[in-house]
Amino acid sequence: QLILEEEEMIDFVSTQEEPTLSQADLKKQSIQEVRRSLPIFPFREDLLRAITQHQILVIEGETGSGKTTQIPQYLMEDVSLKLLLIRSGLPRRVAAMSVAARVAEETGVKLGNEVGYSIRFEDCTSERTVLKYMTDGMLLREFLTEPDLASYSVVIIDEAHERTLHTDILFGLIKDIARFRSDLKVLVASATLDTERFSCFFDDAPVFRIPGRRFPVDIFYTKAPEADYLEACVVSVLQIHVTQAPGDCLVFLTGQEEIEACCEMLQERCRRLGSKIAELVVLPIYANLPSDMQAKIFSPTPPGARKVVVATNIAETSLTIDGIIYVIDPGFCKQKSYNARTGMESLIVTPCSRASANQRAGRAGRVAAGKCFRLYTAWAFKHEMEETTIPEIQRTNLGNVVLLLKSLGINDLIHFDFMDPPPHETLVLALEQLYALGALNHLGELTKMGRRMAELPVDPMLSKMILASEQYKCSEEVLTIAAMLSVNNSIFYRPKDKVVHADNARMNFTVPGGDHLVLLNVYNQWVESGFSTQWCYENFIQFRSMRRARDVRDQLEGLMERIEVEVVSSLEDSVPIRKAITAGYFYHTARLSKGGYKTVKHQQTVYVHPNSSLFEEQPRWLIYHELVFTTKEFMRQVIEIDSGWLLEVAPHYYKSKELEDSSSKKMPRKQGKTKDELG
Ligand code: ADP
Ligand code: MG
Repeated sequence: QLILEEEEMIDFVSTQEEPTLSQADLKKQSIQEVRRSLPIFPFREDLLRAITQHQILVIEGETGSGKTTQIPQYLMEDVSLKLLLIRSGLPRRVAAMSVAARVAEETGVKLGNEVGYSIRFEDCTSERTVLKYMTDGMLLREFLTEPDLASYSVVIIDEAHERTLHTDILFGLIKDIARFRSDLKVLVASATLDTERFSCFFDDAPVFRIPGRRFPVDIFYTKAPEADYLEACVVSVLQIHVTQAPGDCLVFLTGQEEIEACCEMLQERCRRLGSKIAELVVLPIYANLPSDMQAKIFSPTPPGARKVVVATNIAETSLTIDGIIYVIDPGFCKQKSYNARTGMESLIVTPCSRASANQRAGRAGRVAAGKCFRLYTAWAFKHEMEETTIPEIQRTNLGNVVLLLKSLGINDLIHFDFMDPPPHETLVLALEQLYALGALNHLGELTKMGRRMAELPVDPMLSKMILASEQYKCSEEVLTIAAMLSVNNSIFYRPKDKVVHADNARMNFTVPGGDHLVLLNVYNQWVESGFSTQWCYENFIQFRSMRRARDVRDQLEGLMERIEVEVVSSLEDSVPIRKAITAGYFYHTARLSKGGYKTVKHQQTVYVHPNSSLFEEQPRWLIYHELVFTTKEFMRQVIEIDSGWLLEVAPHYYKSKELEDSSSKKMPRKQGKTKDELG
């Protein structure tokens, strides 16, 4: 029963003898049985005792052992602890939502009552909430309203091994607070990575180890490198499906686009094979996936079928899906990378670390002996991958956290207690950028503008754009643009079988000026349609993304009152809108030069993304929202600007000399006029 063509098969070599697969025992257990079966359960009493005895405790346990879901419940069940509030900070919004839902179910309460979650632009808690799961970013923002965390009794920094930027900053702040809040309990939970370092950082806090329960995982490598890992994933899944014993499959890809493409390819091939193969249930999971879709990955696999979950590295340690026996790991992840010299941040698909690869493989051995298929060679594993992932703090723009720390009154950032300090030049650059944005004065102190910017839970450039809209009297429009940008890249729907229709529909939204204005146009037409689902469907717009944009917009609009920005509309003129965008994003200016664009300050070569409405037009001056590196450095979401605006919005950053067009035959039309206006 050979279904795959011979040449399509992928050659794997095993590093070990092949074990006989014991079949996963997936019989239905009651929720309480499941709770009692978790590796952490036998240590419940010991753990509670350790928490009572120590102010700071590091808890180490294999992923899936029950740290995230069980520890807060143990605390709530223990009446002797007299709890006020428990906050659990997690690196990912999907994880916060899904774990909160799970724990609410386990404790038999309605989500949002005693157990709730809080993620950016979405709060699902109430007066009654005792246990709040939140993203580490939201936990960090809580310091703004409650600098001493007075209402907390326990704070959990979960998934500490992820070493996100926010987690690292929380470490420093919480360590400091714990010194004068002796009643505050601090728990640092981590997978089996790096725990000694956490203990060391928290003045030798004890480490509580939950012994792992793990079945052997046999690791396979490809004989030769795979040219197309997406295709290789699809083939591998089908290969497993037709040749291997029952058990679900987990595939690690780098992002939404890839995941959707992979799912489509799998579904398409299964359709073609029809009844020749058993049912394959294909499920995606990534950060922007709507929560009802997310929940599906946890539903049991129908008898006779096989489930395949296609995930980002969210499934590496944040979420545990029961029943996984096979893991397919192409060995890549999407990482933020930051150039401290140029200040350019971009998302790059890079090889993951060996530590990540081992975590991924470990997911196959939770319920039975498993197999992990690595779509790279054993040589690449040894020689081409880094040992561990570099902490985010060392490869990201720090503007956001610097602004936050400044508003918490922490002025001396050089001496802040970082577990791994960021590169000096990154800190300096963040300070310079905040100065150029007007958030700091020349002494490095927070300005009134900076204080208002910090109130908005978005990046400094985006907050500046929103605040600048006040001056240009176009806050209605700019709020919409900000909201649409925040659900970035998931507005337009482009199914493989209807590419032409989808592209035509997209073209119909084109307006002069650039992509931000296209997004505004889409939103406004949707409002006119009465927020219609049907309208979205007809126009190849993703309804869910629009709904989310509306939620984000509502939230931002709610905050406008607090920072005293009047919400008004600039009727029918896009110049004020584009000026407001420029006021926030003047760093991201690029100028047309032979064959592509060059960034103004650093002469870096960049290109307009093919999806952009300005792809063919190639205006002389552009501002981009973000850079993505795929085959080359692409600017995603661009608008056309007049170079004179740069002098208007960022006079201490740009000098008119830099903006002269040495090569040009004709000067941009409006430049002369704008200069006159400036006097
Ligand atoms: P850890 O934090 O140690 O990695 P968790 O507490 O996240 O472990 O997971 C413990 C168990 O709870 C796992 O078996 C996992 O499958 C289950 N679980 C977690 N979240 C959900 C969910 N949303 N739905 C169903 N089961 C879940
Ligand atoms: Mg966890």
